[in-house]
Amino acid sequence: METNQPKVKAAILGATGMVGQRFVQLLSNHPWFEISALTGSDRSAGRKYSDACYWRQEGNMPDAVRDMQVLPAVPPVNAGVVFSALPADIARDIEPEFARAGYIVCSNSSAYRYEEDIPVMIPEINAEHLALLDEQKKKRGWDGLIITSPNCTTSGAVFPLKVLNETFRIEKVFLVSMQAVSGAGYPGLPYLAIADNVVPLIEGEEKKLELEPRLLLGKMNGKERISAPMTISAQANRVAVSDGHTICLSVKLAKSASLEEVKAALISYAWPDEIKRLPSAPQQPLVYREEADRPQPRLDRNAGSGMAISIGRLRPCPILDFRLVAVVHNTLRGAASGSVLNAELLKAKGYFG
Ligand code: NAP
Repeated sequence: METNQPKVKAAILGATGMVGQRFVQLLSNHPWFEISALTGSDRSAGRKYSDACYWRQEGNMPDAVRDMQVLPAVPPVNAGVVFSALPADIARDIEPEFARAGYIVCSNSSAYRYEEDIPVMIPEINAEHLALLDEQKKKRGWDGLIITSPNCTTSGAVFPLKVLNETFRIEKVFLVSMQAVSGAGYPGLPYLAIADNVVPLIEGEEKKLELEPRLLLGKMNGKERISAPMTISAQANRVAVSDGHTICLSVKLAKSASLEEVKAALISYAWPDEIKRLPSAPQQPLVYREEADRPQPRLDRNAGSGMAISIGRLRPCPILDFRLVAVVHNTLRGAASGSVLNAELLKAKGYFG
C-alpha cells in the first residue's frame, strides 16, 4: 500500500520519555514515516539524543537518532506529522500550536481527548469518527489537525466491548484494571512504593475508563458523535508488572446470549480488512486464549507485535451476565503503536495530500 511514495517526515514530541522512546523504535524502520525531529523539555533541548535520553527499551537506541539534536517542543519543525508523547498539561498548550501551524498531530496525551470535534481513535474500532475532523477544521480554523489515542487501558478493554456491544448491546460494564508500572512513565513509581505491592489509585484513571470506551463505541449522527449509552464502573490499580495492563471485565448485555454465542462472537468478529492492510495493524487484533490461566501480561503483551489484545477466562458472571480477562501492551497498542496506526489511517485516507 503506497510503498512507492516518499516517506512522510515525522517529529516526536517528548521523544526522551517512555512513550517517546517507543515512537523512536517504531519509526526507525517504518515504511511510510521517517524520523526528522525529536523534542524534549528544557532539560534535554540542545543536547544530543543519546546524551539526553536514558534509553529504557530492549535493544540498542537506533543509530540514526543517536546524534540528532533534541529540539524545544515548538513549531516549526521539519516534519509533516507530529507524534506527541507529552504530559497532558504540557500538551494542552503545545499540541494546538502545532495544529495551528499546519501539522498533523497524533497525540497520546489526554489533553484533547474529550473535545467533541477531536477524534479519540482506534482504527479497527471507530474509523468513521474521522468525520469529526471536518468539524474540527471549521471550528478551529487550524491548517493542521489533532487526532488522539485513548488511554492505554481503554485501548485494551474496548476491543471485546466493541464485539459484545455490536452483537448483544452492552448495558453495563464493571472493569478492574491491573496496570503496569511503565504506564506511569519514567522514572515512574519508586521501587519501595510498588515492589511486592498493589497501589489502588491511579490519579484520574477511573474517570477516563468510564468515559473513553463510550466515546470510542459512539455512533456518528450526522456531524456529531453520540456516546454509547452504557454505564461503566471502573477500579484502577497499579501492579508490579513492567509492561502490559490486565483488565477484568464483567458485562451486562441487553440481548440474552449463551456462553457459546458470546465466545463465538468474540472469536469470529470480522475486523475491517481495510485496517488490516495498514503496516502496523495486526491481522488478528483480538486473540482468544483457550488456556485456563491466560491471558497474562508477561506471556501475552507482545501478541501481534504488541498490537493484539489477548482475552480469555470467559465465563458467566453471577452479578452481571459474563466476565472475561484482557491483556494489552500499554506502551505499544496502548500508546505509541496506536498513534502510529492512526497516522497510517490518515495517510491511507489522503490526509497527507
Ligand atoms: P514520560 O516518560 O514522563 O515522558 C514525558 C516526555 O515529555 C519526556 O520526553 C519529557 O522530556 C517531555 N516533557 C516533559 N515536560 C515537558 C515540557 N515542559 N516541554 C516539552 N517537553 C516536555 O511520560 P510517558 O509515559 O512517555 O507519557 C507521555 C504521554 O503519553 C502522557 O500524556 C501519558 O499520559 C501518555 N500515555 C502514556 C502511556 C504509558 O503507558 N506510559 C500510555 C498511554 C498514554 P524530558 O525528558 O526532556 O524532560
